[in-house]
Formats: sequence, structure tokens, C-alpha cells
Amino acid sequence: MLNAVALYLVACNMPNRLFTHYLATETGPAAKGDLQVQFLGNTTLLFSDGETALLTDGFFTRPGLLKLLLGKIAPDSTEITRCLRKAGIGRLNAVVALHSHFDHAMDAPLVARFTGATLIGSASTANIGRGCNLPDSLLLIPQLNQPLQIGSFTLTFVKTAHWPYPNAQLRTKLLHNSVEEPLVPPAKMEAYKEGDTYTLLIQHRSTTLAVQGSAGFSTGVLQGCHADILFLGIGGLELMDEAYNQAYQKEVTEMLNPDVVVPIHWDDITTRLSDKPKTVNRLVSLLQGINPQKALQQVVKRNTNRKIITLPLWKPVAVSQLLQTTRQGLPE
Ligand SMILES: [Zn+2]
Repeated sequence: MLNAVALYLVACNMPNRLFTHYLATETGPAAKGDLQVQFLGNTTLLFSDGETALLTDGFFTRPGLLKLLLGKIAPDSTEITRCLRKAGIGRLNAVVALHSHFDHAMDAPLVARFTGATLIGSASTANIGRGCNLPDSLLLIPQLNQPLQIGSFTLTFVKTAHWPYPNAQLRTKLLHNSVEEPLVPPAKMEAYKEGDTYTLLIQHRSTTLAVQGSAGFSTGVLQGCHADILFLGIGGLELMDEAYNQAYQKEVTEMLNPDVVVPIHWDDITTRLSDKPKTVNRLVSLLQGINPQKALQQVVKRNTNRKIITLPLWKPVAVSQLLQTTRQGLPE
């Protein structure tokens, strides 16, 4: 029975035509020593220059919908290993959790352990690490707004706000709270509390990137910051009104003023990562009004002066190619 339900849900994945329209056309690894990025679903991004490699979030388990809503969840080491291998990831210098919800931080300690990386994130993320027996020597809580050097990368963590769940119950359960003790999985989804939510700024030589893992903002915190490429969390924008979308645009995109916007946090996190990302399944869409294409439309219509590029799964893309591409335009 459960299998039948799961099959039904997978079969119901909505087509992602709009995302395909903006798909990067020129992909391929960067020249030796140059920066490349690899999209691994949700907000998991691998940044590498051949010497140093950083991964945001590292979320691969993607528990099924029923388990997520009704059961307990835990990192799936087989699936994590499969994804790391498929992505060609051996050693990592750091895994950076953008906040501590399960779809960002749950797998991060195992990814850190498997790759020899330091787990960087809030005090809540550190407790998620401790719950998976990650030693304190591999846990790092960053100072806010202070540069942190890792190889040729300089990371800066700016505290921001999470997307405000429109559902009051979820808002109370999941926001403005922290994981106070080592969190030993399996656990209920809501045990993975928010902790600090960051905008991550990444400087690599003359290129600046920013990763906004959740579609929330904090007024004024990004003043004076810049990114050439903004990896922008869009999940949930379709549920917010015009005023919210306008403010998100002003406080994140316009503050950072990037040439390129790469939407992230839009694929169905309850489906195992396959070759192509899938948007939300129809059932969830129907029940909760979740519609990633509408979220993307919000970004598209406010950024006609910028390049919007979606990334393929698994494939390395040279950052210089993203910046040089002339591709632009609205979907027909
Ligand atoms: Zn979250």
C-alpha cells in the first residue's frame, strides 16, 4: 500500500517547464584552478576550485512525504554515499548549514564525517552534529559578519530571517527557536529547529557569490554587500503576497545587485535525487498551494534586467560561464 502511495506521488510530479526554460545551456567543468559550482538539489551547492571544496547544506536523504509528516526522520547513509559518489565528491573542506531545519542540516554531520569536512553552522547545527557523534574539533560556529578564510574562499555569515511560514502552527513549531541539546536521530521533523538563518557571502578571488537558503529577509542587513551571482531561495514565494515579494526583492536581490540570479530551493525534497530535479508533486500542490513555477515567476518578473539561470543536477558548471552567458529573456 505504502509503495502504491509513493508511486502515485512520484508519478504526480509536476512538469518543470519554466525551470527548463532557464536551464544553463553551457555547462562543463571550470579550467584548472577556476571556480565551479554544482547543484545537488534543494539548497545543496558544491563550490570548488580544484584545491578547496565547500558544500552548502549537503541534504540528500529527502525522506518521503508520509514519513516526513507522520513519522521520524534520520540521515540515510546509503543514500548520502550514493549522492556523494554520483556528484564525484571525495574530500570536502567544509559543509556549511544555512540554517538548521532538516532539509538543510540533517545530513550535514554525516556528509562532514564521510568527507573529512568541518561542519560550519549555528549552535543548533553544532547540536545536530553532536547528536551524530561528530567531534567538537570538526564543529565551527561562525562569527557573524566576520570573514572566515578557507583556502581561496572567504566566507561571511550574515544573520537573516527565514521565510515566514503562512501556517501559524508551523511558524510556532519551526521558527525563532533552536536545537538546545545534541539531537540524536531518528527524530520528528520539527525537532530540527531553525537556529540562526544566514545569508552566506562567498568571495573567491575577484568573484563574489551569495547564497540565500530561505526566502526570508531581514531589513538592512545586506546593505553595502554585493554578489556577482546570487543563489536565491525561492521556495514559498508563491504563497506570499505582492508586498512580501517586493520586500524580498528589495532587501536581498536589489541589495546584492547581482548580474545573475540562480533560483534554488524549488525542487521536490520528498523525492530521491534522480537525473533531473522534479518540482513539487501534484498532491502537495493541491493541498498546500505550493507551486514552484509561480515562485519562479515572481523572481522572473522583477528581474528583467538580470540573467536568470537554473542549474542542472549533478553537472559542474564553470562560474565564469554563468557570468559570461548572454542568455536572457522571458519564457514564450
Ligand atoms: Zn527552513
